[in-house]
Amino acid sequence: MLADDLRAEFIALLGAGRLHDDIDTLALYSHDETPRHCPPEAVLFPASHDHVVGIVKIAAREHLPLTARGAGSGNVGGAMPTPGSLVVSFECMNRILEFDPDNRLMVVEPGVVTDDIDKLARSAGLMYAPDPGSGAYCRIGGNLAMNAAGPRCVKYGATRDHVLGLRAVLGDGREIRSGSRTTKYATAYDLTRLLVGSEGTLALITEATLKLIPAPEQVASIRVCYTSNADACRAVERVMRLPALPYALEFMDGRAIDAIREYGAATGLPADTAAVLMVEADGRADEVAQRLIQFERALSGPGMIEIQSGFSRDEIVRLWTARKSLSHAVKKIAPLKINEDVVVPVSRLAELVQAIDALASKHRLPIVSFGHAGNGNLHVNLMVHHDDTEEMARARACRLELVTTVLGLGGSLSGEHGIGSEKRQFLPLEFDPVNIDFMRQLKALFDPIGILNPGKKLPD
Ligand SMILES: Cc1cc2nc3c(=O)[nH]c(=O)nc-3n(C[C@H](O)[C@H](O)[C@H](O)COP(=O)(O)OP(=O)(O)OC[C@H]3O[C@@H](n4cnc5c(N)ncnc54)[C@H](O)[C@@H]3O)c2cc1C
Repeated sequence: MLADDLRAEFIALLGAGRLHDDIDTLALYSHDETPRHCPPEAVLFPASHDHVVGIVKIAAREHLPLTARGAGSGNVGGAMPTPGSLVVSFECMNRILEFDPDNRLMVVEPGVVTDDIDKLARSAGLMYAPDPGSGAYCRIGGNLAMNAAGPRCVKYGATRDHVLGLRAVLGDGREIRSGSRTTKYATAYDLTRLLVGSEGTLALITEATLKLIPAPEQVASIRVCYTSNADACRAVERVMRLPALPYALEFMDGRAIDAIREYGAATGLPADTAAVLMVEADGRADEVAQRLIQFERALSGPGMIEIQSGFSRDEIVRLWTARKSLSHAVKKIAPLKINEDVVVPVSRLAELVQAIDALASKHRLPIVSFGHAGNGNLHVNLMVHHDDTEEMARARACRLELVTTVLGLGGSLSGEHGIGSEKRQFLPLEFDPVNIDFMRQLKALFDPIGILNPGKKLPD
C-alpha cells in the first residue's frame, strides 16, 4: 500500500479519480499477456505531459519504480509491474494533437489506439504503415516502446522507421525532445531511434511525431499451399529476391495447419497442405496486377500444390480465413503458449524451420510456428501445461536450444515483441559483456536512480 502522504501528493498532482489502488484495479494491471502477475502499489492515470513530469519527480525522490503501460497487450512481461512499483497507465493521454496531411505527419499522445492513427491518415489518402495484429486495442506508446511491427513491415519497416520525433520524460523528471518535423534530419545524435524499442526503461514517452506515407490504391492477396515447410521457405527466398517487395509475406507451418484443421477452419485448403504462405501486393491497380503475376511466378516451384489470388474484399477475407483462425486454434492444443519471436536472415529460414521440427521431436512438445516470413521473423509457440513440471523442464531446455540455434543462424532473440522480463536472461547469449555494460551505462544516463521499468530488457 502506498503511504497516505504519498497517496495524497499524487492525488493533489493528478486530481481525483486518477489514482486507483483498489484490489480489482491492482489485479487488472498486474500483468500483460504473459501468465506472470505482480500487483503494483497503485495505478496512476496521467492526463498530460506535466502530470507525467510530476509523477516521475515524486517517484525519483522516493525511489519508487514506475512501469509504463499502454494496453497491456505485450507478450514479454514488459508492462508487468515489479514489486513495490507504480503503474503509469497512458490510457487517458489519448489525444491526436495534430494531423498535418501536407507534411504527412501526425502528432499523438502515447495512449492513442494504433488503428485510429491509420484510420485518420486514410481519410487524407495516407497511411500509418506499422500494423501489429493487436492494432485494434494496443496503444502507440506501447508500439514505440517495443518497436512493434506487423505484416506490412516487410515492405514499409517497423515502428522505428515511422517516427520523426519524440517528447519524453527521463528518470529524474527532466524533459527530452528528439528528432524534428522533417523527413530529413542530420543535426543531433539519433535519440529517437534509441528511445524506440527501449521498453519504458530509458524514458516515458509523452508525445510522438509520426511519419505518414501515401496509402496504396489497391491491395490483392495470394494464398499458396505447399507439401512441406522447406518448399514454402524456399519460395519466400525467391519472392524476396524480386525487385518489388510484397505488402505482406506470412508463413504458417505444418503444425499450425494441423491446429487449424482440428479447429475446423481449414475449409478450402487441399488435403495434403503442410505449409501455407499468404502474400500481398499493393500499389496502383495496374501495378498490383503486374506484381501479382511476378509473385505468383516466384511462388510456383517444388512442392506447390495450390495458388489462389483475390482482389475483392470478400475474396481477400476468404483467403485469410485459415490464417485469422490460427490464434484461436492454437489455444486448443494446450493451455499455455510460450511464445518466442525469433528472427533470422531470410536465406536461413528453411534451416530454422527444420531445426524447430527437430526440437519438437527431441523435446516431445507441440511447437506451432508462423509469422512474418519476409522478415525472417517467426513466432515459435511451445504449447505446454504450466502444472506439468516435467513438461515445463523440457520446454525450458527447448527454449535454450532454440535461442542458440537462432543465434547460430545469424539471427536475433526478438523481431518485434521485445525482451521484457521474459527473455532478458538470454541477452548474454547474443551480446558480449562490453555491449551489455554499455547498455547499462546508457540506462544510467537516462534513468540515474534506476526507477524506470527495472527488471526489464537488461539482464541482472
Ligand atoms: C493478439 C496479439 C497480437 C499481437 N500482434 C503483434 C504484432 O503483429 N506485432 C507486434 O509487434 N506485436 C504484437 N503483439 C504484441 C503487443 O501488442 C505489442 O508489443 C504492442 O506494441 C504493445 O502495446 P501496448 O499498448 O499493449 O503496450 P503494453 O503491453 O502496455 O507495454 C509494452 C511496453 O511498452 C512500455 N510502454 C508503454 N507505454 C509507454 C510509454 N508511453 N513510454 C514508455 N514506455 C511505454 C511498457 O512499459 C512495456 O514495456 C500482439 C499481441 C497480441 C495479444
